Parts: sequence; C-alpha cells; structure tokens
Amino acid sequence: MPTINLGKPKSRERTVNKQLYQDFYQDPRWRALRDQKIRDNPVCEQCEARGKTILAREVHHKIPFQLGRTPEEIEHLAFDYDNTESLCVPCHKKADQDIRKGKIPSHFVTHFIARFMQDVFCRNLPSGIPPFFPLNFTI
Ligand SMILES: [Zn+2]
Repeated sequence: MPTINLGKPKSRERTVNKQLYQDFYQDPRWRALRDQKIRDNPVCEQCEARGKTILAREVHHKIPFQLGRTPEEIEHLAFDYDNTESLCVPCHKKADQDIRKGKIPSHFVTHFIARFMQDVFCRNLPSGIPPFFPLNFTI
C-alpha cells in the first residue's frame, strides 16, 4: 500500500491527542458507533482483503480524528461511520503502529489533497457545505 511519511507527532501534539482520546472514549456516541460497526461488519476488513476470515474485535479510525483542524472536523472524523473499519486485534495494532511511525496509508493522501483543495478553492462557499469533502472524494 502506498504511504506518505508525515513524521512523528511533537510532544505538545501528543498531550493534545491524549486529552482528545480521553474525551472521545468517554463519549457514549463512540460506544454506539463501535457496536453498530461490529454488528454490521463482524469480520476484520484487512484480513478479509487478504482472503482470511477473522472475527473483528475492534473498530479503527481510518483517518485519526485528531487530524481535524477544528472541533467540527475532529467531531466529524471521530463519529463518521464511513471513517471506521472493523479489525482484528493484530491488524488494529499494526494500523496504529504504522500511524505512530508516520507511515500513512494512501487514503490519507486523498484526504489531505481534498482538504488542501478545499482550502485553496472553496474558502467562500455559502454556509451549509460539509466541513470537508466526503472521505470517498476522488480527484
Ligand atoms: Zn485482521
């Protein structure tokens, strides 16, 4: 899978992220979203893509919600069903390790390009537009 290296987060970012995580995992909306995702897709999506059927135990954010630039973006990424992925424990561990190492899967690249395009071209759109392009936005 193609990756882009964004580097490791700085210590202040880590502190902010820790608080965000604490707030997020105490939010009852997360438990509801997580339970719904596991009910809908009880099989690890990454193992399934490799032809293996393994029970999913955890729900992963494909794009980490702390990458949001505003509270609205963070909220959108955190609770967007389409930004979640059912994973087994080893696949979730590996996905999180890759993110911590700065190895970013290709869907991040699409996300960042879409955000950049919105910043450059869509600054003056009327209110009511979504906080950023849908995650499946393609260029
Ligand atoms: Zn797996």
